[in-house]
Amino acid sequence: MTKNSRFPDPRLSVKNNINKLYDLYLKSERSRLSNNAGAYLKAVIVFPNSYEVGMSNLGFLRAYELINLSGIMSCDRAFLQDDLSKGVISLETRQRLISYDFIFFSLSYENDFANILSILSAEKIPFLSKDRDTSFPLIMAGGVIAFLNPEPVAPIFDLMFVGEAEAIFPDFFKNIENKNKYEIIESAVDVGGIYAPSGYNFIYEKNTPNVLSKIKNLSGFPRRIKRKWADEKNVFSSSAIITEFSELSNINMIEIERGCKRGCRFCSAGFIYLPLRESKTEEVLKTISALNEDERAGFVGLGTMDSGNINEIMQFSLDSKKRFSLSSIRFDCLDENNLGLIKETGIKTITMGIETGSPKLKKLINKDISNENIINAVKNIIKMDIINIKLYFMFGLPYEKKEDMDETINLIKTIRQEFVSASKINKRIGMLTASFSPFVPKAWTPLQWENFEDLTTLRKKSNYLNDNLKRLPNLNIIINPLNEAFTEAFFARGSRINSNILIHAFTKKISIKKAVRSENYNIADFIRKFGAEEILPWDIIDQGVTKKYLLEEYKKSVNFKLTPQCFEGCKRCGVCR
Ligand code: SF4
Repeated sequence: MTKNSRFPDPRLSVKNNINKLYDLYLKSERSRLSNNAGAYLKAVIVFPNSYEVGMSNLGFLRAYELINLSGIMSCDRAFLQDDLSKGVISLETRQRLISYDFIFFSLSYENDFANILSILSAEKIPFLSKDRDTSFPLIMAGGVIAFLNPEPVAPIFDLMFVGEAEAIFPDFFKNIENKNKYEIIESAVDVGGIYAPSGYNFIYEKNTPNVLSKIKNLSGFPRRIKRKWADEKNVFSSSAIITEFSELSNINMIEIERGCKRGCRFCSAGFIYLPLRESKTEEVLKTISALNEDERAGFVGLGTMDSGNINEIMQFSLDSKKRFSLSSIRFDCLDENNLGLIKETGIKTITMGIETGSPKLKKLINKDISNENIINAVKNIIKMDIINIKLYFMFGLPYEKKEDMDETINLIKTIRQEFVSASKINKRIGMLTASFSPFVPKAWTPLQWENFEDLTTLRKKSNYLNDNLKRLPNLNIIINPLNEAFTEAFFARGSRINSNILIHAFTKKISIKKAVRSENYNIADFIRKFGAEEILPWDIIDQGVTKKYLLEEYKKSVNFKLTPQCFEGCKRCGVCR
C-alpha cells in the first residue's frame, strides 16, 4: 500500500480487516453506474490482483460496466485479498464468490495466473472446469489474455470471451436466459466470439513433448473461434468508477483510440487490437467536461499522440481547466505545438519506449526512430521545462550482439549529456530514468516464433548494462526482474501443458521452473524458437491477422527490412476487408 500524501494512508489502519478496508474503498468511489440490484442473475467480476491494480485497468472497469448494463445481471467486484484464509468476498455485497451464479475473471497479465488459483483455492472451487458440476458457478474469463493466447489457463474456464466485450456481451446475455450451466456452455458457440475450452482436444507429438500435432474440435464446436470487434462507433470507454485508491489515483481513464497503425513487431497489443479506431471527439470532450475539480483525465491509447484529434482534446482540457495525463508517447510525434500543451497542463514526466539504440535492431522490431530524432526530442522536452524523462528499453532481442548493446549504452550516455546540459540552461534538473526489460516473444506478433533468451545470458547482459550505466549521475537505471520475465515468457506462448505445470507448481508450492523439471520437461522446450510450420496453441483463435502475414513480417524482420504503417486502402494483414 503506497499513497503519496502528507497524511497517513487511511488503508494502513484497516488493512487487516477486509470489511473495513472495503468500506473505505467504497466510500472513496465516484461511480456513474446506477444500482442494478433488481436483476435476477448475480455475477461477480474478479481482477486477480489487488484493488489498486484492478481499478487502474480500463478493460476491467468496462466489462464491469457492461455486465451491469445488461439488464439481466447485477455484477459485483472482487480482487485478490491479502488474507485468503476466510475465502474471497465481493467488494459491494461481501458475499463469498462461490455463492454467485456467474464468475467473470478479467485477465490482463500472465504473471497473475497463479493468483487465479489462489482465489479459486480460497473458495474451495476445483481448478479445472471438467471437475466442476452444476453446483458450482459458471466460471468465465475475458480480457486481453483470452484472445491473445488463452491456452495456459483454458482448462480452468468454462467459457472465454474472444474479442472486445462490447461486441460479445449483448448476444451472450441474450443467450443465457433460462438455461442451465451446461446448456449455456453448449449454446455459447452459436453466439460467436466465445471459446468453450472443453470442446477441444490438444494432441501433442509423441517424441517431441510440447509440440502440437493437432487441435481437434469435438462435434458441434467450430474449428477456430473468430475474434469479435466492437464496431467503429462503439470503441469509446472511460472509467465507470474513479477512486483515489487506484494506482492512477483520481484519474478518469479516457480511451481516445483503440489499436495502433505502427506495426512494431514485438507488440501484441499493436496487432490484436487492429485496426486503429479513434474515439469520437465529442464523446471524449463530453467526458472531460464532466470531470470533478479533483479529477484528472488520463488519455489512454497505444500511441496517444497518433490520434488525429489529440491536440484538439488537449487544448479543450486546458481551456476548460481540466488537468490531463498521457499514456506512452512516441518520440517522433512530439513537436513544439503538442509539447507546449503538455507543459501547460503541468506534466513533469514524459514516458516513452525507445526499445534499442541499435539501428539494426530498430529495423528488426520495425520501430525505426533515429537516435538523432530521439536526442532532439529530449532537448525539446527539457527546453519546455518538463524535467523528468522515463525511457523504456528491451534487451535479449533476437540477433542482439554486444555491439547492439553498446549502441544502446552510447545512446543513453548521449541522452544523459543532452538532458544535463539542457537542464542547466533551465537551472533545474529532474531525473532521467532508463528502464530495461527482457524481450518476451508474444502470440500474434511477427516475433512470436523467436525464442526467449536463456536466463544465464540475460543475467550477463543485464550486468553489462548495469556496469556501464549505474555510475552516471542524474541517471536512474531500472532492470526489471528476470524471473518475472521468464514466467511471462513461459505462459505467453504456452499450451495446456503449461496449465498442468501451473497447477502443479501452485499445489506443491514450488517455482514454475521446479515444476517443469519435476514433470520431466526441459525448461528450454518452453522458451525455444518455434518452427514456421508448427501448429501454435493460439491457432485456435482466428484473430483476423493472418498467420501468412505474420510469417511474411517475421521474414522481413530477420532480414532487417521495414514495413510501412497502416494506410488507406491497405488490406495486407487480413483485418480490414
Ligand atoms: S489491413 Fe492494413 S490497414 Fe488494416 S489493420 Fe492490417 S495493416 Fe492496418
